[in-house]
Amino acid sequence: MWLSAHVRKVAATAFLGSAAILMTAWTAASLAGDDASQPGVLPDESGRSTMSDLTSRESGMPPPVFRLQAVVARAWSDSISTWKRLIKSQAVEIGAVNLRFVSRLNPTNCYGLYAGQGPAYCSGNQTVFVGTQEANRLMARFGVYGEAGITFLIGHEVGHHIQNINGRFLYLSQRLARAPHDRADLIRRFELQADCLAGVWVHASEAWANSAQFRSQMLGVLQSVGDEALLQNVPVSQIAKVGVHGTSEQRTRWFKVGVEGGDLDACNTFAAAQP
Ligand SMILES: [Zn+2]
Repeated sequence: MWLSAHVRKVAATAFLGSAAILMTAWTAASLAGDDASQPGVLPDESGRSTMSDLTSRESGMPPPVFRLQAVVARAWSDSISTWKRLIKSQAVEIGAVNLRFVSRLNPTNCYGLYAGQGPAYCSGNQTVFVGTQEANRLMARFGVYGEAGITFLIGHEVGHHIQNINGRFLYLSQRLARAPHDRADLIRRFELQADCLAGVWVHASEAWANSAQFRSQMLGVLQSVGDEALLQNVPVSQIAKVGVHGTSEQRTRWFKVGVEGGDLDACNTFAAAQP
């Protein structure tokens, strides 16, 4: 019953120590050295015409950046409206989350604690950042599952916002302070909870609740975003110690708990003997 423990408006700075770790979702699989954004400058580079945009335009296909923005916008509005419907008493807090497109995350985006590719959620400013370079790369990597993949990622990040307004960042930081040696396990449970919450959203989603095909595509994506896939440069024996998102099997299983049952309380990954 973790949702009953409301800790509203989690303060900006108190939990950033844990929040920062949670935002390393995609860095392990990321491209290096392609910094482009300027601190505090928005909108970012995402509206800029590139050679590939022009090529796309001539071929009649939507430019990738517009396709990405359209997919993100649809997932975003559906998830926010669905969550407001699911937890009516927190509609205001749910609606307080922000969405920002950046080419890649700059340290100034989240109090100097994180820079990288995104997508990522910063608990301090309640903002989901979509790093367009990385998101476009991921959408291409997911192939025909691209739209389902990006939609899932948005659901996961919004899941972190749901965790935030329900005091789960505070809970995690308290657990981490008490048991620093369990760091990877605790953060993994936190991340798997966000996967489960993404499932709860899809279960109730106006757009996708009845789309078995979209659901199966999301499950297909989850097969490729486990720690063993994200940390290919890490020895297999070390993945359980450093991986924080869970294996593909774990991510798939917790997403299924959410999407099949639609029950928030079933997403209690901290209570599971083995997450
Ligand atoms: Zn996450």
